[in-house]
Amino acid sequence: MNSALISMVEKAKRYANEPERITIHDVEVEFRGNNATHRVGLRGDEWHCECDHFKAHALCAHVMTLQRVFGTHLRDEVRYTQERATA
Ligand SMILES: [Zn+2]
Repeated sequence: MNSALISMVEKAKRYANEPERITIHDVEVEFRGNNATHRVGLRGDEWHCECDHFKAHALCAHVMTLQRVFGTHLRDEVRYTQERATA
């Protein structure tokens, strides 16, 4: 390896131990639930999930899971969201 590449690898190792450097704005994942697989993710300030519970309440266990998994990398506005009251 040349010295520039070695230097980049070393920097990446340091950065990887400083997760607060990274903020996620958009993410799209395939989530394998117990009963079905859902597309779920974040676009800007809006979470989305194709499951029925999310369609009714704007929140679901899948979104809540991603908020936990990626919590360190999320802005407060999208890290904690409220369930929409049923009409
Ligand atoms: Zn869901």
